[in-house]
Amino acid sequence: MSIAIRSARGRSRPRRRGAAAAGIPLARRLLDRLLASLVEALFPADCFLCGDPLPFRQSGSTCLPCWQGLPWAPGLSIRKGPLRAVLWGADYAGPFRRLVHGLKFEGMDYLGPLLGEAGARRMEALLCGDAARADLVVPVPLHWRRRLGRGYNQARLLAEPIALRAGLPLDAHLLWRPRAGRRQLGLSRAERLRSLDGCYRVAGVRRAALRGRTILLVDDVVTTGATLEACARALRGAGAAAVIGCVLARTPRVRG
Ligand SMILES: [Zn+2]
Repeated sequence: MSIAIRSARGRSRPRRRGAAAAGIPLARRLLDRLLASLVEALFPADCFLCGDPLPFRQSGSTCLPCWQGLPWAPGLSIRKGPLRAVLWGADYAGPFRRLVHGLKFEGMDYLGPLLGEAGARRMEALLCGDAARADLVVPVPLHWRRRLGRGYNQARLLAEPIALRAGLPLDAHLLWRPRAGRRQLGLSRAERLRSLDGCYRVAGVRRAALRGRTILLVDDVVTTGATLEACARALRGAGAAAVIGCVLARTPRVRG
């Protein structure tokens, strides 16, 4: 009965309104596009790093000279403890500090895949070397409230192109963060480690996939290494053979 009523209604009204109704969003989209082009032409976006106007129709990010001149400085350090090694693409200073800030705090999610791909290219020799050989790529997770507020996990955006270039599978759900913990900014290494205690867990159903594997753990920046170590402890505790940190940038004053 209800099906008959719905189909009878469906035949009489939406058909005639359908053509007109479909035309409205299309017209609106075209108008939006036209207005956006006009705004771009009148007020071209500036390069995120040097402030020069970007070429016509480039809506954001950096100009080509700034992008090509980024001071990549890949490196690797062997460590003791739950993390076997850490590799990085650049020093967390100058343009990289600005880019990471844009990626994390200014909604510039499109920088994630670009920086991840460029960083992976620079780190390729290290990624494929013996010291960093891994089986699986895992991004450092965000607490769900922060993930919701930001709209994305920047570590995952960086991890995807890194996994692709390293030829490794990626599991973004293996590790999760049930506790938000305190903000890390301004805390000492000991305070960071304490505040991160119990913040990261391995998803129970994925433990089998972890056993005996070497994990490449991806994050945006390493400062004291407390976040990577807290994740590594959770991964090792759940059966991972080894954990190697891989970050876009490291704070230079920290050795490794
Ligand atoms: Zn520029």
